[in-house]
Amino acid sequence: MSIKTIGHYINGQHTSGSGTRYSDVFNPATGKIQAQLNNAKATDVEAAISAAQAAFAEWSATPALRRARIMFKFKALLDERADDLAKAISLEHGKTISDARGEVTRGIEVVEFACGMPHLMKGDYNDQVGTGIDTYSMHQPLGVVAGITPFNFPIMVPLWMIPMALATGNTFVLKPSEKTPSASLMIADLLAEAGLPAGVFNLVNGDKEAVDVLLTDKRIQAISFVGSTPIAEHIYSTGTKNGKRVQALGGAKNHLIVMPDADIDQVADALIGAAFGSAGERCMAISVAVTVGNVADALIAKLTEKVKGITIDQGLNEKADMGPLVTPEHYAKVKGYVDLGVAEGATLVIDGRIYQHKGYEQGFFLAPCIFDHVKKDMRIYQEEIFGPVLSVVRAETFEEALQLVNDHEFGNGVAIFTRDGEVAREFTQRVQAGMVGVNVAIPVPIAFHSFGGWKRSLFGDHHIYGNEGMRFYTRLKTTTSRWPASNKVAGAEFVMPTMK
Ligand code: NAD
Repeated sequence: MSIKTIGHYINGQHTSGSGTRYSDVFNPATGKIQAQLNNAKATDVEAAISAAQAAFAEWSATPALRRARIMFKFKALLDERADDLAKAISLEHGKTISDARGEVTRGIEVVEFACGMPHLMKGDYNDQVGTGIDTYSMHQPLGVVAGITPFNFPIMVPLWMIPMALATGNTFVLKPSEKTPSASLMIADLLAEAGLPAGVFNLVNGDKEAVDVLLTDKRIQAISFVGSTPIAEHIYSTGTKNGKRVQALGGAKNHLIVMPDADIDQVADALIGAAFGSAGERCMAISVAVTVGNVADALIAKLTEKVKGITIDQGLNEKADMGPLVTPEHYAKVKGYVDLGVAEGATLVIDGRIYQHKGYEQGFFLAPCIFDHVKKDMRIYQEEIFGPVLSVVRAETFEEALQLVNDHEFGNGVAIFTRDGEVAREFTQRVQAGMVGVNVAIPVPIAFHSFGGWKRSLFGDHHIYGNEGMRFYTRLKTTTSRWPASNKVAGAEFVMPTMK
């Protein structure tokens, strides 16, 4: 049986591409290769940029209301096909179908938000800033913009970018993850079905070779990137060096602080979902629990009990809580970190390494792992593992716990569980992170706020989507105008103009 190949979408057409290198796309549950992805060559990427460049003049001149109506149709189609999208995500990523549906919903919320772009893009107007002089400012699109996205949210993360960029009048080239490409290709078809003109949205599959073109081609005005920190930093420095506006969201090590007054059952439930949901492959997953005072023993006892209730299975099982990891390389990396934690002297309370899923022995299944007595000089504490591995760090005081968070290189999400409003407020004021949860373990902001971390979790000046997204994808133009009658022209003025 010949294996499916995955190509590109350029100027309204699916194309197999001219690349000669192929990447394997796995079914993480069976461990089998289910498709081969054509890695775009520079000429494919250049064709996508040319199509986007050619489409820009007409699309940017299309009234914002008409662009918004296409987004509205796109949203309706996403609703209609949500299950197909979720299935495509689950089959390549391994996450459970219910989790994949949640991802699609969170993506749709950004499309809903973008439907209101005519309102959001409204400029400012002041009449009579001087005698007979008016000033107004407007937000105009940038041109061709690119998105480069990670494997773990094949629909949601592209939808953090696409609706915002298109509704503001830009044209787009998406380079999704080569590990989970199929769901994002479905977006191309839905946009076309919604009435988006050819060339406005293009998609090239591939790896570094494709990204290098996006980073250097002069026609690309801005890049939104989401992925790991080393690549985010490279994209930011190379993109900005080439004169582009860049927002590059990176990795994370999200802490959840457990205060002594917290409800331990609630904390344990929250931690189980936040640490092991999506097999820990979420940038907002909780990977460190910091216990304050003497709650650690009670918490670990609860976690140990609750972990036993987690149903691990292939993602299409509606009853599964957690699926496999994405690729054999990622499985080996995460398992390697668990081995490292043992070697570094942390106490492995729950060891998921020995797990094999019956009937899916070749799948990339790793069961939950919990480390206790993790110290801040250990690599398992410092580095992002991106798998179902929870580290428990014991702190004596709130100040010590806060210091741990603030000293960490990442500052994406963070949470505190407490019943004390004063402590919670103090925490939200002083913590060095972009997204904060109070008794909420995964505080992913809703579409009408914005998403982004601090420190080495984000390079650039703008968070993604929400008002920040509109600002990122537009530039401000301010016009000062007057309409003097021809008999009132005063002659040449040689001094710096001031408003009279
Ligand atoms: P990754 O950095 O390996 O890949 C992200 C994208 O960059 C992919 O499209 C990939 O093809 C491309 N890429 C990889 N290497 C490249 C290179 N050398 N040059 C140019 N492009 C390259 O990330 P991933 O493994 O797909 O995703 C997981 C990572 O993403 C984790 O670190 C996670 O924390 C992070 N993430 C962050 C957020 C956030 O909002 N901060 C959200 C989701 C995921």
